[in-house]
Amino acid sequence: MDTRKAYATFLLGKTYIGHLFSRLAVWKRGQGYSAFKEKYLADNFFELTPEERNAFPGFQKCINCGVCITQCLFSVDLLHEELPDPENIACSLSRPLPDLWTVKEDIYKCTLCGACETVCPQGVPISEIVQFVRRKISVIAPELAPYKEGIAYTKKGYNVFGERPAPFVYTKRAKPSYLLYMGCLYSLKEREAGQRIVSLLDNAALDFTILAEETCCGMPIDIDGNCYDVDLKRIAEMNIKTIIAPCAQCYSHLKEKANGNFNILHITEFLADAGYKLKAKTNLSYYDPCVLHIKHNIYDAPRQLIKTSGAKFIDINHDKSLLCCGAGGGVGMLYPEMAGAVAKERLKPFKEAGTEILLTECSYCLQNLRRGVSAKEKMKVYSLTEYLFLSS
Ligand code: SF4
Ligand code: SF4
Repeated sequence: MDTRKAYATFLLGKTYIGHLFSRLAVWKRGQGYSAFKEKYLADNFFELTPEERNAFPGFQKCINCGVCITQCLFSVDLLHEELPDPENIACSLSRPLPDLWTVKEDIYKCTLCGACETVCPQGVPISEIVQFVRRKISVIAPELAPYKEGIAYTKKGYNVFGERPAPFVYTKRAKPSYLLYMGCLYSLKEREAGQRIVSLLDNAALDFTILAEETCCGMPIDIDGNCYDVDLKRIAEMNIKTIIAPCAQCYSHLKEKANGNFNILHITEFLADAGYKLKAKTNLSYYDPCVLHIKHNIYDAPRQLIKTSGAKFIDINHDKSLLCCGAGGGVGMLYPEMAGAVAKERLKPFKEAGTEILLTECSYCLQNLRRGVSAKEKMKVYSLTEYLFLSS
Protein backbone atom coordinates (compact mmCIF):
# COMPACT_ATOMS: atom_id res chain seq x y z
CA MET A 1 0.00 0.00 0.00
CA ASP A 2 1.49 3.35 -0.94
CA THR A 3 1.66 6.23 1.52
CA ARG A 4 -1.30 8.15 0.03
CA LYS A 5 -3.60 5.12 0.23
CA ALA A 6 -2.48 4.40 3.79
CA TYR A 7 -3.13 8.03 4.77
CA ALA A 8 -6.57 7.98 3.14
CA THR A 9 -7.45 4.72 4.95
CA PHE A 10 -6.25 6.23 8.22
CA LEU A 11 -8.44 9.32 7.70
CA LEU A 12 -11.45 7.20 6.80
CA GLY A 13 -10.97 4.98 9.84
CA LYS A 14 -10.48 8.00 12.11
CA THR A 15 -13.65 9.63 10.84
CA TYR A 16 -15.65 6.42 11.21
CA ILE A 17 -14.46 5.77 14.77
CA GLY A 18 -15.06 9.44 15.61
CA HIS A 19 -18.60 9.10 14.24
CA LEU A 20 -19.26 6.00 16.39
CA PHE A 21 -18.04 7.80 19.51
CA SER A 22 -20.03 10.94 18.73
CA ARG A 23 -23.18 8.84 18.30
CA LEU A 24 -22.55 7.14 21.62
CA ALA A 25 -22.05 10.50 23.28
CA VAL A 26 -25.20 12.07 21.87
CA TRP A 27 -27.41 9.09 21.43
CA LYS A 28 -27.52 6.37 24.03
CA ARG A 29 -29.55 3.30 23.32
CA GLY A 30 -32.81 3.16 25.22
CA GLN A 31 -33.40 6.91 25.21
CA GLY A 32 -36.63 6.33 23.36
CA TYR A 33 -38.53 7.86 20.47
CA SER A 34 -38.72 11.41 21.83
CA ALA A 35 -34.92 11.63 22.06
CA PHE A 36 -34.67 10.21 18.53
CA LYS A 37 -37.06 12.90 17.23
CA GLU A 38 -35.21 15.65 19.05
CA LYS A 39 -31.88 14.56 17.63
CA TYR A 40 -33.09 14.25 14.04
CA LEU A 41 -35.16 17.44 14.01
CA ALA A 42 -31.84 19.16 13.31
CA ASP A 43 -31.74 17.07 10.09
CA ASN A 44 -35.27 18.30 9.22
CA PHE A 45 -36.88 15.00 10.22
CA PHE A 46 -40.46 15.34 11.46
CA GLU A 47 -43.26 13.09 12.51
CA LEU A 48 -46.43 12.19 10.59
CA THR A 49 -49.79 11.80 12.28
CA PRO A 50 -51.61 8.47 11.69
CA GLU A 51 -53.91 10.26 9.16
CA GLU A 52 -50.92 11.70 7.31
CA ARG A 53 -49.22 8.28 7.25
CA ASN A 54 -52.35 6.84 5.63
CA ALA A 55 -52.53 9.65 3.07
CA PHE A 56 -48.83 9.63 2.17
CA PRO A 57 -48.86 6.67 -0.29
CA GLY A 58 -51.57 8.52 -2.28
CA PHE A 59 -49.34 11.60 -2.38
CA GLN A 60 -46.55 9.55 -3.97
CA LYS A 61 -48.35 8.23 -7.06
CA CYS A 62 -47.10 10.88 -9.50
CA ILE A 63 -45.66 9.47 -12.76
CA ASN A 64 -44.24 12.80 -13.98
CA CYS A 65 -46.54 13.01 -17.02
CA GLY A 66 -46.91 16.79 -16.65
CA VAL A 67 -50.59 16.94 -17.69
CA CYS A 68 -51.52 18.83 -14.53
CA ILE A 69 -49.32 21.77 -15.52
CA THR A 70 -51.71 22.57 -18.37
CA GLN A 71 -54.49 23.32 -15.88
CA CYS A 72 -52.71 25.59 -13.42
CA LEU A 73 -53.25 29.20 -14.40
CA PHE A 74 -50.21 30.25 -12.44
CA SER A 75 -47.94 27.78 -14.20
CA VAL A 76 -49.35 28.08 -17.72
CA ASP A 77 -50.23 31.64 -18.51
CA LEU A 78 -49.41 33.93 -15.71
CA LEU A 79 -46.52 33.70 -13.41
CA HIS A 80 -44.23 30.84 -14.36
CA GLU A 81 -41.55 31.90 -11.95
CA GLU A 82 -43.85 32.42 -8.99
CA LEU A 83 -45.30 29.02 -8.22
CA PRO A 84 -43.76 25.57 -8.30
CA ASP A 85 -46.03 23.93 -10.90
CA PRO A 86 -48.31 21.09 -9.76
CA GLU A 87 -46.03 18.38 -11.16
CA ASN A 88 -43.18 19.90 -9.19
CA ILE A 89 -45.35 19.93 -6.06
CA ALA A 90 -46.35 16.29 -6.58
CA CYS A 91 -42.79 15.13 -7.21
CA SER A 92 -40.67 17.16 -4.87
CA LEU A 93 -42.88 17.50 -1.81
CA SER A 94 -44.05 13.98 -1.20
CA ARG A 95 -41.51 11.41 -2.39
CA PRO A 96 -39.37 11.78 0.73
CA LEU A 97 -40.45 13.89 3.70
CA PRO A 98 -40.45 17.43 2.31
CA ASP A 99 -37.77 19.76 3.57
CA LEU A 100 -40.00 22.48 5.04
CA TRP A 101 -37.09 24.87 5.34
CA THR A 102 -36.41 24.94 1.60
CA VAL A 103 -40.06 25.11 0.42
CA LYS A 104 -40.21 28.81 1.31
CA GLU A 105 -43.15 31.04 0.46
CA ASP A 106 -43.93 29.53 -2.93
CA ILE A 107 -46.22 26.93 -1.46
CA TYR A 108 -48.53 29.72 -0.25
CA LYS A 109 -49.12 30.82 -3.85
CA CYS A 110 -51.31 27.79 -4.63
CA THR A 111 -55.02 28.70 -4.47
CA LEU A 112 -55.96 25.08 -3.65
CA CYS A 113 -58.35 25.32 -6.61
CA GLY A 114 -57.90 21.64 -7.54
CA ALA A 115 -57.88 22.33 -11.30
CA CYS A 116 -54.71 20.28 -11.69
CA GLU A 117 -56.35 17.31 -9.98
CA THR A 118 -59.21 17.16 -12.48
CA VAL A 119 -56.84 15.85 -15.20
CA CYS A 120 -54.32 13.82 -13.20
CA PRO A 121 -54.41 10.21 -14.44
CA GLN A 122 -53.04 9.02 -11.12
CA GLY A 123 -55.49 10.91 -8.93
CA VAL A 124 -52.71 12.68 -7.05
CA PRO A 125 -54.37 15.03 -4.51
CA ILE A 126 -52.07 17.98 -5.24
CA SER A 127 -53.98 20.55 -3.19
CA GLU A 128 -53.92 18.15 -0.23
CA ILE A 129 -50.13 17.87 -0.56
CA VAL A 130 -49.92 21.66 -0.44
CA GLN A 131 -52.13 21.78 2.66
CA PHE A 132 -50.12 19.00 4.27
CA VAL A 133 -46.89 20.96 3.81
CA ARG A 134 -48.46 24.19 5.07
CA ARG A 135 -49.87 22.40 8.12
CA LYS A 136 -46.46 21.02 8.92
CA ILE A 137 -44.89 24.46 8.58
CA SER A 138 -47.52 25.91 10.96
CA VAL A 139 -46.72 23.33 13.60
CA ILE A 140 -42.98 22.71 13.18
CA ALA A 141 -41.60 25.92 11.76
CA PRO A 142 -44.27 28.66 12.20
CA GLU A 143 -41.61 31.33 11.69
CA LEU A 144 -41.60 30.34 7.98
CA ALA A 145 -45.31 31.12 7.42
CA PRO A 146 -45.63 34.39 5.48
CA TYR A 147 -48.60 35.62 7.53
CA LYS A 148 -47.40 34.97 11.07
CA GLU A 149 -48.60 38.42 12.23
CA GLY A 150 -52.09 37.61 10.89
CA ILE A 151 -52.12 34.36 12.87
CA ALA A 152 -51.10 36.20 16.03
CA TYR A 153 -53.76 38.92 15.54
CA THR A 154 -56.47 36.32 14.90
CA LYS A 155 -55.56 34.32 17.97
CA LYS A 156 -55.85 37.52 20.03
CA GLY A 157 -59.50 37.80 18.93
CA TYR A 158 -59.14 40.21 16.00
CA ASN A 159 -58.70 39.06 12.41
CA VAL A 160 -55.73 38.64 10.06
CA PHE A 161 -55.62 42.40 9.50
CA GLY A 162 -55.35 43.17 13.23
CA GLU A 163 -58.05 45.83 12.90
CA ARG A 164 -61.27 46.25 14.85
CA PRO A 165 -64.05 47.24 12.39
CA ALA A 166 -66.48 50.05 13.21
CA PRO A 167 -70.00 48.77 14.03
CA PHE A 168 -72.50 48.52 11.16
CA VAL A 169 -75.54 50.81 11.20
CA TYR A 170 -78.83 48.97 11.82
CA THR A 171 -81.81 48.93 14.19
CA LYS A 172 -81.10 47.01 17.41
CA ARG A 173 -83.92 44.62 18.26
CA ALA A 174 -84.69 43.31 21.76
CA LYS A 175 -84.79 39.56 21.11
CA PRO A 176 -83.12 38.82 17.79
CA SER A 177 -83.71 35.42 16.18
CA TYR A 178 -80.84 35.63 13.70
CA LEU A 179 -77.17 36.43 13.89
CA LEU A 180 -75.74 38.04 10.77
CA TYR A 181 -72.09 36.98 10.64
CA MET A 182 -70.41 39.58 8.43
CA GLY A 183 -66.78 38.38 8.40
CA CYS A 184 -63.64 40.49 8.22
CA LEU A 185 -63.61 41.38 4.51
CA TYR A 186 -67.19 42.68 4.46
CA SER A 187 -66.48 44.52 7.72
CA LEU A 188 -63.18 46.08 6.65
CA LYS A 189 -62.19 45.83 2.99
CA GLU A 190 -65.57 45.61 1.19
CA ARG A 191 -67.26 47.74 3.81
CA GLU A 192 -69.67 49.59 1.49
CA ALA A 193 -71.05 46.29 0.18
CA GLY A 194 -71.18 45.04 3.79
CA GLN A 195 -73.30 47.99 4.95
CA ARG A 196 -75.67 47.57 1.98
CA ILE A 197 -76.16 43.90 2.90
CA VAL A 198 -76.97 44.91 6.49
CA SER A 199 -79.33 47.65 5.28
CA LEU A 200 -81.28 45.27 3.02
CA LEU A 201 -82.16 43.05 6.00
CA ASP A 202 -82.70 46.04 8.29
CA ASN A 203 -85.13 47.68 5.83
CA ALA A 204 -87.05 44.38 5.72
CA ALA A 205 -87.33 44.58 9.55
CA LEU A 206 -85.65 41.21 10.02
CA ASP A 207 -84.99 40.56 13.73
CA PHE A 208 -81.24 40.08 13.51
CA THR A 209 -78.16 41.20 15.35
CA ILE A 210 -74.44 41.38 14.60
CA LEU A 211 -71.82 40.41 17.17
CA ALA A 212 -70.21 43.39 18.87
CA GLU A 213 -66.48 43.02 18.21
CA GLU A 214 -66.99 40.09 15.87
CA THR A 215 -63.93 37.82 15.74
CA CYS A 216 -62.54 36.08 12.67
CA CYS A 217 -64.32 32.89 11.55
CA GLY A 218 -60.82 31.42 11.50
CA MET A 219 -60.78 30.22 7.91
CA PRO A 220 -57.70 32.17 6.77
CA ILE A 221 -55.50 30.53 9.37
CA ASP A 222 -57.36 27.29 10.02
CA ILE A 223 -56.83 25.99 6.48
CA ASP A 224 -53.18 25.61 7.41
CA GLY A 225 -53.88 23.78 10.64
CA ASN A 226 -53.60 26.65 13.09
CA CYS A 227 -56.51 25.23 15.08
CA TYR A 228 -58.47 28.37 15.75
CA ASP A 229 -62.01 28.09 17.12
CA VAL A 230 -64.54 30.79 16.30
CA ASP A 231 -66.42 32.14 19.31
CA LEU A 232 -69.60 30.06 18.94
CA LYS A 233 -70.05 29.91 22.72
CA ARG A 234 -70.84 33.63 22.79
CA ILE A 235 -73.51 33.13 20.10
CA ALA A 236 -75.05 30.19 21.99
CA GLU A 237 -75.30 32.36 25.13
CA MET A 238 -77.35 34.87 23.12
CA ASN A 239 -79.90 32.11 22.60
CA ILE A 240 -79.61 32.39 18.83
CA LYS A 241 -80.12 29.29 16.74
CA THR A 242 -79.72 30.58 13.17
CA ILE A 243 -76.61 32.22 11.75
CA ILE A 244 -76.74 33.89 8.33
CA ALA A 245 -73.40 34.36 6.58
CA PRO A 246 -73.01 36.48 3.43
CA CYS A 247 -69.41 35.38 2.88
CA ALA A 248 -69.07 31.91 1.35
CA GLN A 249 -65.85 31.21 3.23
CA CYS A 250 -67.34 32.22 6.60
CA TYR A 251 -70.42 30.11 5.83
CA SER A 252 -68.33 27.05 5.03
CA HIS A 253 -66.06 27.44 8.01
CA LEU A 254 -68.82 28.18 10.52
CA LYS A 255 -70.74 25.16 9.28
CA GLU A 256 -67.74 22.94 9.84
CA LYS A 257 -67.00 24.37 13.29
CA ALA A 258 -70.63 24.44 14.50
CA ASN A 259 -70.82 20.68 14.07
CA GLY A 260 -74.61 20.70 13.65
CA ASN A 261 -75.23 22.87 16.75
CA PHE A 262 -76.60 25.87 14.83
CA ASN A 263 -78.70 26.31 11.73
CA ILE A 264 -76.14 27.96 9.44
CA LEU A 265 -77.42 29.52 6.24
CA HIS A 266 -75.64 31.17 3.38
CA ILE A 267 -77.42 34.46 2.74
CA THR A 268 -78.51 33.41 -0.77
CA GLU A 269 -80.37 30.42 0.73
CA PHE A 270 -82.06 32.67 3.27
CA LEU A 271 -83.06 35.35 0.73
CA ALA A 272 -84.36 32.84 -1.82
CA ASP A 273 -86.43 31.07 0.85
CA ALA A 274 -87.78 34.37 2.14
CA GLY A 275 -88.95 35.30 -1.37
CA TYR A 276 -86.72 38.35 -1.98
CA LYS A 277 -86.98 39.69 -5.53
CA LEU A 278 -84.39 41.38 -7.70
CA LYS A 279 -85.23 44.33 -9.92
CA ALA A 280 -82.86 44.61 -12.88
CA LYS A 281 -82.96 45.15 -16.62
CA THR A 282 -79.30 44.71 -17.57
CA ASN A 283 -77.53 41.47 -18.61
CA LEU A 284 -76.67 39.59 -15.43
CA SER A 285 -74.21 36.80 -14.68
CA TYR A 286 -73.26 35.05 -11.48
CA TYR A 287 -69.81 33.92 -10.36
CA ASP A 288 -70.30 30.87 -8.14
CA PRO A 289 -67.88 30.95 -5.20
CA CYS A 290 -66.12 27.59 -5.58
CA VAL A 291 -66.52 26.67 -1.93
CA LEU A 292 -70.30 27.07 -2.25
CA HIS A 293 -71.03 25.25 -5.48
CA ILE A 294 -68.35 22.56 -5.27
CA LYS A 295 -68.20 21.86 -1.54
CA HIS A 296 -71.74 22.72 -0.38
CA ASN A 297 -73.75 22.39 -3.59
CA ILE A 298 -75.35 25.82 -3.10
CA TYR A 299 -76.04 26.46 -6.75
CA ASP A 300 -79.80 26.93 -7.23
CA ALA A 301 -80.53 29.58 -4.57
CA PRO A 302 -78.59 32.46 -6.22
CA ARG A 303 -80.07 31.53 -9.61
CA GLN A 304 -83.56 31.52 -8.15
CA LEU A 305 -82.99 35.07 -6.83
CA ILE A 306 -81.48 36.36 -10.08
CA LYS A 307 -84.24 34.90 -12.22
CA THR A 308 -86.89 36.85 -10.25
CA SER A 309 -85.67 39.95 -12.12
CA GLY A 310 -86.71 38.69 -15.56
CA ALA A 311 -83.51 40.27 -16.97
CA LYS A 312 -81.27 38.28 -19.31
CA PHE A 313 -79.23 35.81 -17.22
CA ILE A 314 -75.98 34.64 -18.84
CA ASP A 315 -75.19 31.45 -16.95
CA ILE A 316 -71.51 30.82 -17.71
CA ASN A 317 -71.32 28.14 -15.02
CA HIS A 318 -74.30 26.14 -16.34
CA ASP A 319 -72.09 23.01 -16.45
CA LYS A 320 -70.65 23.61 -12.93
CA SER A 321 -67.11 23.77 -14.30
CA LEU A 322 -66.15 27.16 -12.86
CA LEU A 323 -63.09 27.20 -10.64
CA CYS A 324 -61.57 29.40 -7.95
CA CYS A 325 -61.49 33.13 -8.76
CA GLY A 326 -57.84 33.24 -7.68
CA ALA A 327 -58.30 34.40 -4.10
CA GLY A 328 -58.50 30.92 -2.55
CA GLY A 329 -55.92 29.33 -0.30
CA GLY A 330 -55.05 32.74 1.18
CA VAL A 331 -53.63 33.99 -2.16
CA GLY A 332 -56.11 36.88 -2.31
CA MET A 333 -54.79 38.23 0.98
CA LEU A 334 -51.10 37.43 0.62
CA TYR A 335 -50.53 38.03 -3.09
CA PRO A 336 -53.32 40.32 -4.35
CA GLU A 337 -51.63 41.00 -7.69
CA MET A 338 -51.35 37.30 -8.50
CA ALA A 339 -54.94 36.72 -7.38
CA GLY A 340 -56.12 39.62 -9.55
CA ALA A 341 -54.29 38.20 -12.58
CA VAL A 342 -56.19 34.92 -12.17
CA ALA A 343 -59.48 36.81 -11.79
CA LYS A 344 -58.81 38.60 -15.07
CA GLU A 345 -58.43 35.24 -16.84
CA ARG A 346 -61.51 33.76 -15.20
CA LEU A 347 -63.59 36.79 -16.20
CA LYS A 348 -62.82 36.60 -19.93
CA PRO A 349 -65.85 34.40 -20.82
CA PHE A 350 -68.17 36.67 -18.81
CA LYS A 351 -66.95 39.78 -20.62
CA GLU A 352 -67.08 38.09 -24.03
CA ALA A 353 -70.68 36.99 -23.39
CA GLY A 354 -71.76 40.60 -22.78
CA THR A 355 -72.27 40.56 -19.01
CA GLU A 356 -73.02 44.03 -17.68
CA ILE A 357 -73.54 43.20 -14.02
CA LEU A 358 -71.60 40.31 -12.53
CA LEU A 359 -72.95 39.15 -9.19
CA THR A 360 -71.36 36.88 -6.61
CA GLU A 361 -71.85 36.22 -2.91
CA CYS A 362 -68.54 35.79 -1.17
CA SER A 363 -66.43 38.63 0.19
CA TYR A 364 -63.23 37.02 -1.13
CA CYS A 365 -64.64 36.56 -4.64
CA LEU A 366 -66.12 40.06 -4.61
CA GLN A 367 -62.84 41.70 -3.68
CA ASN A 368 -60.84 39.65 -6.14
CA LEU A 369 -63.22 39.79 -9.11
CA ARG A 370 -63.21 43.57 -8.73
CA ARG A 371 -59.43 43.42 -9.14
CA GLY A 372 -59.99 41.72 -12.48
CA VAL A 373 -62.15 44.52 -13.94
CA SER A 374 -60.77 47.96 -14.75
CA ALA A 375 -62.81 51.13 -14.10
CA LYS A 376 -63.09 51.69 -17.88
CA GLU A 377 -64.81 48.37 -18.53
CA LYS A 378 -68.55 48.09 -18.97
CA MET A 379 -68.96 45.12 -16.65
CA LYS A 380 -69.36 45.92 -12.94
CA VAL A 381 -69.12 43.46 -10.04
CA TYR A 382 -71.45 43.43 -7.01
CA SER A 383 -72.37 41.22 -4.13
CA LEU A 384 -75.77 39.71 -5.00
CA THR A 385 -77.27 40.90 -1.71
CA GLU A 386 -75.75 44.35 -2.17
CA TYR A 387 -77.34 44.50 -5.63
CA LEU A 388 -80.72 43.49 -4.20
CA PHE A 389 -80.41 46.50 -1.88
CA LEU A 390 -79.35 48.85 -4.69
CA SER A 391 -82.18 47.74 -6.93
CA SER A 392 -84.87 47.81 -4.21
S1 SF4 B 1 -54.41 23.53 -6.86
FE1 SF4 B 1 -54.72 25.13 -8.46
S2 SF4 B 1 -53.17 26.74 -8.03
FE2 SF4 B 1 -52.58 24.88 -6.87
S3 SF4 B 1 -51.13 23.83 -8.23
FE3 SF4 B 1 -53.19 22.95 -8.66
S4 SF4 B 1 -54.02 24.17 -10.37
FE4 SF4 B 1 -52.24 25.31 -9.52
S1 SF4 C 1 -49.46 14.99 -10.49
FE1 SF4 C 1 -50.65 13.67 -11.89
S2 SF4 C 1 -50.90 14.89 -13.79
FE2 SF4 C 1 -49.25 15.86 -12.57
S3 SF4 C 1 -47.36 15.00 -13.36
FE3 SF4 C 1 -47.99 13.73 -11.61
S4 SF4 C 1 -49.21 12.05 -12.47
FE4 SF4 C 1 -49.04 13.63 -14.07
